[in-house]
Amino acid sequence: MTQSTRIPRRGVMFVLSSPSGAGKTTISRRLIEAGLRMSVSVTTRKMRPGEVDGKDYWFISPERFAAMVRDGELLEHATVYGYSYGTPRTPVEAALARGEDVLFDVDWQGTQQLRQAKPGDVVSVFVLPPSLKELERRLRGRGQDSEETVRRRLARAPDDMSHWAEYDYILVNDDLEDCVRRVQGTLEAERQRRDRLLGVGDFVRRLAQN
Ligand code: ADP
Ligand code: 5GP
Repeated sequence: MTQSTRIPRRGVMFVLSSPSGAGKTTISRRLIEAGLRMSVSVTTRKMRPGEVDGKDYWFISPERFAAMVRDGELLEHATVYGYSYGTPRTPVEAALARGEDVLFDVDWQGTQQLRQAKPGDVVSVFVLPPSLKELERRLRGRGQDSEETVRRRLARAPDDMSHWAEYDYILVNDDLEDCVRRVQGTLEAERQRRDRLLGVGDFVRRLAQN
């Protein structure tokens, strides 16, 4: 029998954060198209045009959200722009144990909590816009939010960006294709980290015996 050349490993919790409008949803979509699974968060905010319940988020009531927090069903949770967001625990733990990577689109508060909950599993990437002018252009160009919401998100950007030092990797999303390539390269490298390769000892032992 030929030996499998795949070393069993634990999945990566791959966290992407950025100030709103810098492009993390766009980058996430590309990673998902390439086969990465996304953690679907719960939120109490309203659905935007084009969003799908259960795909972009699970859109739930504040009462249901409070019950999930109370019952320990969330790996992390935070209030962002006045709404509650959180990461359901069970699907993430199951995927990691199967050796599958999971992508997270959470803010800096969520990143801190995920790292506390799963210190060895989290790899965090902070995406920066090339300039604030370009961030504003992207927020308006998205055409999904009211003028007030755009202003609120722009005003919050400097505070969001001040958390850069809490991340493992910092990437500027100037040219999209180039940024997607760098994000994919970061994930690919992290998949090979020795401490994730749970089966490496057995693998090397078998190699030595053959
Ligand atoms: P976020 O999820 O960070 O809030 P989005 O992914 O929704 O941001 O991107 C905001 C807008 O900017 C979208 O209209 C998207 O198409 C556009 N965008 C994303 N990345 C780039 C890029 N590198 N160059 C130009 N426009 C971009
Ligand atoms: P949006 O409403 O534009 O989709 O997301 C607003 C912000 O909430 C983004 O910064 C996004 O990263 C963050 N967010 C989305 N889901 C979660 C989550 O489950 N937990 C936390 N902490 N933040 C989240």
